[in-house]
Order: sequence, then structure tokens, then C-alpha cells
Amino acid sequence: GGRWSLKGMTALVTGGTRGIGSAVVEELAELGAIIHTCSRNEAELNGCLEDWKKKGFKVSGSVCDVLSREARNKLMDIVSHTFNGNLNILINNVGTNVRKPTLDYTSEEFSLIMATNFDSVYHLCQLAHPLLKSSGMGSIVFISSVAGVVALPSGTVYAATKGAINQITKNLACEWAKDNIRSNSVAPWYIRTSLVKRLLDKEFVENVISRTPLRRVGEPKEVSSLVAFLCLPASSYITGQIISVDGGMSVNGFY
Ligand code: NDP
Repeated sequence: GGRWSLKGMTALVTGGTRGIGSAVVEELAELGAIIHTCSRNEAELNGCLEDWKKKGFKVSGSVCDVLSREARNKLMDIVSHTFNGNLNILINNVGTNVRKPTLDYTSEEFSLIMATNFDSVYHLCQLAHPLLKSSGMGSIVFISSVAGVVALPSGTVYAATKGAINQITKNLACEWAKDNIRSNSVAPWYIRTSLVKRLLDKEFVENVISRTPLRRVGEPKEVSSLVAFLCLPASSYITGQIISVDGGMSVNGFY
């Protein structure tokens, strides 16, 4: 190991086949971690697993829709079996959004966003707790959003789920500190992924960039680096924090 290595550590990354999740899998693998990931599309998952194998990364995967409680139970069983009951790192990455004005949400849309972004994350923390504790050194990282920190026009339901994540980040940091489990949140602004590709037309990007001091959107690798840092022994005294990766957007008064 060492302070700047994840050698021998075990990790579960939800939604690792695209975007931020995929960058996190690769970043953790490059630092020596052994990883299990999941997604809903089996063909895409298998393609990723083959790629990672070629790169020499130790990554396994299973198909799991985190929306289903039963699928989450099964996922954690597989993880426990794969890693002999020890998990060092849980990355809660899966998230979705339906972007519209508050008055337009149907109850189905409301439930889908809540269940995907918050209920599943909460339950995965519950399921992972004994494994994280048993590892002797656990770290949970939530992929939140600046939409849970400041008001953005990306939808109030999404914002509420990310706000909820930001709060449990703090609670779990305190409640599970005795088990040597740390809990932190990473809150990105616009990152170039499949989730926001539809949104990133010229006019929208120009608007986003004009509010961002660094004058560009972010790349998945610029999020995964922070996620990895929060899992390293080097960050062993950092817990309960929500850190934005936003090119300065959330501190921008009037630049
Ligand atoms: P993408 O849509 O690009 O990737 C999502 C990944 O999660 C895919 O691998 C997808 O695979 C998987 N996934 C989605 N739904 C489920 C599900 N129900 N069960 C299992 N796997 C699932 O998303 P991003 O990388 O952009 O987003 C990742 C996280 O980052 C989210 O929590 C999002 O809210 C957050 N975020 C993103 C920002 C951005 O600008 N991109 C900004 C702020 C926060 P599959 O579809 O095959 O299941």
C-alpha cells in the first residue's frame, strides 16, 4: 500500500460503464484497487469488462438495476462473496434526472428520481455497512451534484435527492466514524457524459460556460481524481465533506 495507493483494497462502483462511473472504475484500478461494478445493459457491461481486462485492471461486474431492492440485495451478496466479506470502498454513482418545471412532474417521474437517486443509495449504504466495517478501513463516496448545493434549473426533484445525499454524507460520517468508515460527497457541475449529452447544445454550453469561472464544462476524469483521493489513506482525516468539482461555478458571485 502506502498513502497514495489503493493496492489490495476492494471497491464497489455503481453504474461503472459510462461517464463518471467509468472514469472512477479506471482511476481506482490504476491506483491498485480490485473493483466490482454494475449496470443494466449486459452487452455494454461485458464490453467494458473486456476492455479493462486488456488494460490489466482487476474489475468484475454484474447486471443490476439499482432501482430494485431485490437486485440490490443480490448485488451485495455477490460483492461479499467476491471480496470475502470485506469492502473498503463504496462509490454511489448511479443517478438519473428528468428535467422540467416543478408543476409538471407526474407522481411516476417523482418516484423514479427519488428511488434511483436516493432510496437505492440509502439501502446500498445499509447493505454495505457490515462489509465496510469488516474491512477495517472504509470509505463511502457519493456522487452528488452542485444542484444539491445551490439552486439550478435542472429540476427540483433531482435537487432534493442530491440535497438528501449531502445531508446523509454528514450523518454517516458521524454515526459510522466508530467503525472507521468515512463518508464524503463529490458535487459536480456539468460534466461531459451521456447523461447530459442531449443538453449540451451550443447555446446551452455557452450559457453554462458564461457562469463558470474556468469557462468550460468538466470531463469525467476531473471528477474521478477527487473520488479516488477521498478513498486513499492520504485522506484519512477527511470525512463528512461535500466538495464541488465545478470550475468555480458555485462560488461565483458575478464574474
Ligand atoms: P451516465 O448516464 O453517463 O452514466 C450512468 C451510469 O450508471 C451508466 O453506466 C448506466 O448504465 C448506469 N445506470 C444508470 N441507471 C442505473 C440503474 N438504475 N441501475 C444500475 N446502473 C444504472 O451518468 P453520469 O456519469 O453523467 O452521472 C453519474 C452521476 O453523476 C449521477 O449520480 C449524476 O446525478 C451525477 N452528476 C452528473 C453530472 C453531469 O454533468 N454529468 C453533474 C452532476 C452530477 P446503464 O444505463 O446501462 O444501466
